[in-house]
Amino acid sequence: MTGRASTRLLALLGHPVDHSASPALHHAACEATGIDATYLAFDVAPSRLAAAVEGLRALGALGANVTVPHKQAVLDLVDAVTDEAHAVGAANTLCWDDGRLLADNTDATGLLEVLTDDLGLQAQTAVEVVGAGGAARAAAVALGRLGARVRVWARRRERAEEVQALALAHGAQALEARERPEVVVNATPLGLADEPLPEPFMALTPDQTALDLVYRPEPTPFLRAAARAGARTADGRGMLLAQAAHAFERWTGLAPPRPVLAAALARALDGPGG
Ligand code: NAP
Repeated sequence: MTGRASTRLLALLGHPVDHSASPALHHAACEATGIDATYLAFDVAPSRLAAAVEGLRALGALGANVTVPHKQAVLDLVDAVTDEAHAVGAANTLCWDDGRLLADNTDATGLLEVLTDDLGLQAQTAVEVVGAGGAARAAAVALGRLGARVRVWARRRERAEEVQALALAHGAQALEARERPEVVVNATPLGLADEPLPEPFMALTPDQTALDLVYRPEPTPFLRAAARAGARTADGRGMLLAQAAHAFERWTGLAPPRPVLAAALARALDGPGG
């Protein structure tokens, strides 16, 4: 569906972007829905982000994703920030509304689908979130909406407290310090390069669930340790797929078939060069 004068641009702005699976996902979505667009990943240094966003406007891009380290900075470069991006404090999607460029967020919605549909979690589930960046903030909003009991750990305590407050503001209750979590969510990049999480999170038991937001072809050390201990495990593919499906819908009004996206993701991550 690409390579014509009418073909529209979808873009990823990040730094770096070379291992992103998003192009594979969105090309599959275009193919399945008949949208005439191509999705390109651009490595944009922070000093060039404003120029890149202006470029999207000038080129009439159909939409874009934004990833680390631009998810917060982009909020100042658009015409309006959606309530969802405002709630999370970060954007992962740029889309149009009546000629205005909006910064939106589909991470929290995508993660909530994983928590409920894939993992079957319910209100009151005891969850510990590791990390306090953009992914942890999306997790805090999703867990708040679920009505979970939440504790946040981060190496900088004040940042953990901020993310904990965000979860409580969205409906979570605080998980007491002495209580063991039923679910541990890794929202740090630890594991991308095969690094373990801090020690307490590496010793789960069979009644616990390990959810790693990191996605890569091989299980991370956190998920390997959890699986060895008999705990249930899930990696970041489910969230990646769900946030991509919602972003595509924001750009095109069409919901891409999830099995098609799942197959494209599996090919991108598990195939040669994945
Ligand atoms: P971020 O905003 O840069 O935040 C990273 C967090 O991890 C910060 O709290 C940071 O602590 C902490 N951290 C980094 N290195 C650490 C270490 N060595 N020890 C302890 N804490 C450490 O990044 P993000 O956007 O939240 O993304 C985090 C990861 O989530 C990404 O790498 C990606 O793999 C994953 N993710 C997945 C999806 C998905 O769809 N599956 C979506 C978004 C993100 P400091 O603040 O102290 O540096």
